Amino acid sequence: MKYKNIILSCVGVIVLVGGGVYIMHSQNQLPSLVSSKSSSRATESSQKTDLPNTAEADNSTLILVNKQHVLDHELDFEKSEMNGIQYSQEIDEPLRKFLNAAKDAGHPATLVSGYRSKKYQEQVFNENVQQNINNGMTESEAKKATRAVIQTPGASEHQTGLAVDVMTDEYWQQYHQLESDSDKTEGQKWLIEHAPDYGFVLRYPKSEAAKKSTGIDYESWHFRYVGVENAKYMTKHHLTLEEYDDLIQGQSTK
Ligand SMILES: [Zn+2]
Repeated sequence: MKYKNIILSCVGVIVLVGGGVYIMHSQNQLPSLVSSKSSSRATESSQKTDLPNTAEADNSTLILVNKQHVLDHELDFEKSEMNGIQYSQEIDEPLRKFLNAAKDAGHPATLVSGYRSKKYQEQVFNENVQQNINNGMTESEAKKATRAVIQTPGASEHQTGLAVDVMTDEYWQQYHQLESDSDKTEGQKWLIEHAPDYGFVLRYPKSEAAKKSTGIDYESWHFRYVGVENAKYMTKHHLTLEEYDDLIQGQSTK
């Protein structure tokens, strides 16, 4: 039961903001978001010329999943496992290296969540709807209330097997909750700072610009594998995956 609550709280953060604060971007608005954000650091053209070789639109490691890019089918990939938690085999080595390095630096961390199937997400979603109905809501009220706390099936990046929730033991062992203020611990700070060295980015950063881009509130624990070169580039230029994807798509059509 404890574990289930963790998952609910994690996805809860995702949807609360997704439903509440998300600002719809049209295709035309996104490029301006990228260029305005990047103008103080580097020009958009200089970013494009020094893009890593792996920054290709058809690079499956860079798959974008969010409310606008819903995965309506299960992806076909080999899975690995750690402590009963599954994830894509592609990230097995980098993830182990990341966690071992954290431990060696004196900051052992726990893998809290990895791959979650659409079916599982549906099950959690439907159980919550039923619970709301049992508590006296109509079906439409129940669904609305559920959407406010649980990610819509197909819109969760965990379905790709490339996303992991990792929390420093310093915080996790005390609270057993995925909370953004875990970033006040030395351990979580270490994870956030060093993730790109192992190919991971903090997928939902703290800045207001990032929140507008992802539509999701700050998550100090949710890391997404994109490969070392892409992770370092995105971090250096403060780009979310949405913005990076847009930059790559813009380049590929020129
Ligand atoms: Zn997560």
